[in-house]
Amino acid sequence: MPTKTILILGGGIGGIVTARELRRLLGTHHRVIIIDKNPVHSFPPSYLWVMVGWRKPETIQKPLSMLEKYGIEFHHAAVRNISLEKRTIETDRAILSYDYLVIALGAELVAESILGFSENVHFFYTLESARKLNTSLTTFTGGTVAIVIASLPYKCPPAPYEAALLLESFFARRGTHRTVINVYTPEPSPLFVAGQQAGDMIRQLLRQRGIELHTSHKLVSVDATSQHLVFENNQRPTFDMLIVVPPHRAPEVVRSAGLTNDNGWIPVHAQTLRTQHTNVFALGDVTTIPLANGLPLPKAGVFAHNQAEVVAHNIAQDIHSSGFRKDFGGTGFCFLETGNGRAGYIHGNFFSAPAPDITFHEPSVTYHWGKVVFEKYWLWRWF
Ligand SMILES: Cc1cc2nc3c(=O)[nH]c(=O)nc-3n(C[C@H](O)[C@H](O)[C@H](O)COP(=O)(O)OP(=O)(O)OC[C@H]3O[C@@H](n4cnc5c(N)ncnc54)[C@H](O)[C@@H]3O)c2cc1C
Repeated sequence: MPTKTILILGGGIGGIVTARELRRLLGTHHRVIIIDKNPVHSFPPSYLWVMVGWRKPETIQKPLSMLEKYGIEFHHAAVRNISLEKRTIETDRAILSYDYLVIALGAELVAESILGFSENVHFFYTLESARKLNTSLTTFTGGTVAIVIASLPYKCPPAPYEAALLLESFFARRGTHRTVINVYTPEPSPLFVAGQQAGDMIRQLLRQRGIELHTSHKLVSVDATSQHLVFENNQRPTFDMLIVVPPHRAPEVVRSAGLTNDNGWIPVHAQTLRTQHTNVFALGDVTTIPLANGLPLPKAGVFAHNQAEVVAHNIAQDIHSSGFRKDFGGTGFCFLETGNGRAGYIHGNFFSAPAPDITFHEPSVTYHWGKVVFEKYWLWRWF
């Protein structure tokens, strides 16, 4: 059988699972190459714990070169150009050809696109920003904290609410009692895509903890000098500490390759993750999949992971010309950390019609430990 080369762009959650699964399913004469500009993978669900000081950054990181022991080639470089015609990828180190291409480049954060963005605006959507926020939190003496979802879509829809709940228990433990936390979202309800039960549960959790929720608030700009926000509805609340979920967009390299649609993300077949280009797949945050209710599938690691297993399986099946095809079914779960040693649990099927069929389980100590175990398992299982 001729040697096939599978190039995987992005060594995040989707890219790592694709590479490991392909290596398991394919003979060693086929090449599996993973490309990432970052030499180290870090586990994003734990950034929230870095923010409140429960994790040191180094405990949630693994070098991608560790994948080499499984026969995966790691190419540490930035992807500069994707040529679908020539079937090549140009990085800042080399030009690589592929038989199969898997695009798992995630979403790019563009905090600086917020009008009035300055160094004083915090976020926790990267490991470094979560670490910096932790440093600022330890010297924060209290006041009004604003957590603002700058725009849609953003990855891990529960994360800003988890942040609010974790910060509430963080401040309570430190005795920073005169702190008020406000969460602003452009959505009419939290986790709008997941339906009313999930939204109501989050509203209730926030209310119980004295966290103010402001829905349908679309951010226009930030005035860092006078410390106030400007929303489209003309509200101009003030803040002492501002934490934003920055705007997201597909990485430049996929936009310039003409892979994205009018929404700015790569459209893919919902079940197989094929793009319209032969042997080119895309998965995870870089994609857009419309749901029955007209909203896009949320960007979450659990979907990137499940999609990666499907893509790896179907590429291996294609190469072997045998076996059955797997489909991505739209199911997923996540733990929603609520602080005080508890977490809620959300699971369901986002492909259900006419709307996702999602259940939110009340926070418990068990789910919190479920999240801890999952973190340990992830970093052990794939490295
Ligand atoms: C604070 C936080 C908490 C979260 N919690 C959860 C959770 O509890 N559950 C859950 O399911 N999801 C969670 N998520 C979301 C989850 O992390 C993402 O949805 C998931 O990582 C997407 O996987 P991906 O493979 O598509 O992209 P990523 O994991 O983002 O990987 C993309 C990779 O591509 C690389 N890359 C990008 N551009 C280039 C380039 N030009 N050249 C080379 N490499 C490039 C990046 O370095 C990166 O390694 C959370 C996210 C955050 C920020």
